[in-house]
Amino acid sequence: MNWHERAACRSEDPELFFPVSDDGSSLLQIERARQVCHRCPVLRECRGWALRNGETDGVWGGLTPRQRRELSVPDPAGA
Ligand code: SF4
Repeated sequence: MNWHERAACRSEDPELFFPVSDDGSSLLQIERARQVCHRCPVLRECRGWALRNGETDGVWGGLTPRQRRELSVPDPAGA
């Protein structure tokens, strides 16, 4: 079975996972999306997919675009 088929967000409004920003009036929406992610059985698979594919929009695996960018910053030492 594909991990997408076990996603908790399948029964949610997709708009919930695509806030217009990372702050301000979007914070409540982001928190609601993250609550769904944190009860999702495929959070790790989803997060890994978003990080590997450089997904730039939306909440994936409980992470906002900003949080994913921070995790994806290359090591300056090149390690
Ligand atoms: S972690 Fe969040 S965005 Fe990813 S599949 Fe689960 S509910 Fe959907």
